[in-house]
Amino acid sequence: MFPDEFEYERPETVDEAVDLLVDHPEAEILAGGHSLLPTMKSGLASPDLLVDIGHIDAMQGIDHADGTVSVGALTNYATVDDSPVMRENVTVFAETAHAVGDVQVRNRGTVGGNLAHADPASDLPAAALAADATMVLQGPDGERRVDADDFFLGMYATDVAEDELLTRIEFPARPEATGAYAKKPSPSSGYAMVGVAVSMTVDAGRVEDVGVAANGIMDHGVRLDPVEDALAGTNPDGETVATAATNAANDLDEMMMMDDLQASAEFRAQLLETYAERAITDAATGTGVVAAGPS
Ligand SMILES: Cc1cc2nc3c(=O)[nH]c(=O)nc-3n(C[C@H](O)[C@H](O)[C@H](O)COP(=O)(O)OP(=O)(O)OC[C@H]3O[C@@H](n4cnc5c(N)ncnc54)[C@H](O)[C@@H]3O)c2cc1C
Repeated sequence: MFPDEFEYERPETVDEAVDLLVDHPEAEILAGGHSLLPTMKSGLASPDLLVDIGHIDAMQGIDHADGTVSVGALTNYATVDDSPVMRENVTVFAETAHAVGDVQVRNRGTVGGNLAHADPASDLPAAALAADATMVLQGPDGERRVDADDFFLGMYATDVAEDELLTRIEFPARPEATGAYAKKPSPSSGYAMVGVAVSMTVDAGRVEDVGVAANGIMDHGVRLDPVEDALAGTNPDGETVATAATNAANDLDEMMMMDDLQASAEFRAQLLETYAERAITDAATGTGVVAAGPS
């Protein structure tokens, strides 16, 4: 299908983009276009203006200074996946970027677009939660910062206001942490039926710091507090990890779990436990991604 007619602007600064958003409340931001364009072509979105942010240099790239790693919202997944700074300091986010789509998607889709779009089956939200990310937003009143825990509000809903841009994502640099992402991909789309991200620091055989979060199970990425609590201070051996993973769905409202043609809520809850165990085991052994095939 063809999209409805729209105007097109290509700002070169964040301020110019914000001015356009303020003047056009029905505008949509165009980043990688991998989610927006199919939505427009299927008639589900008809913006009057596309604000193509792809030429805003200030929103590109990865910086590391003063214990913080800052990733521009326009940075694509392949850049994150290949970045030694990310692999060293925010391993879980690099591992998760590696699990998104295929090579073409990873070279075009942006981390900011992924997080702002907030598809419940997207991969990056759980990694942002597990890594304790901070979203940096800019609007007409300047910059504001939102913790990942407060950013995802529901299906395709975030704390980004209509006249704001997500400009960058900041992470505490954790060179001592290992990270992993275990994903059960949808056999048809490759998106996460369930995906679990883990960032873990083990000191003298004990879990000193751990973040565990999941995609695909609820209408937005969620932190799995009971699993984090069960792991804190333990020696993450096989039995401890398996027991901790059984807590994965404890705080989640069964009635609100994703339930569709691909997987019932009950099956997703089972997948959640299994993939939580895989991701934690993988983080504990420092080996990276576990992405199971369709079987
Ligand atoms: C074949 C295919 C397979 C895919 N597989 C996966 C997968 O396995 N896992 C996965 O997670 N994703 C997958 N995706 C989605 C892909 O990752 C998209 O890139 C992502 O969802 C959106 O990023 P984008 O840069 O393309 O954003 P766009 O499509 O340009 O924008 C998406 C939405 O976010 C808004 N937006 C974009 N950037 C910003 C910003 N900086 N600030 C505020 N709002 C913004 C836009 O207005 C729009 O509403 C797949 C896509 C395709 C086409």
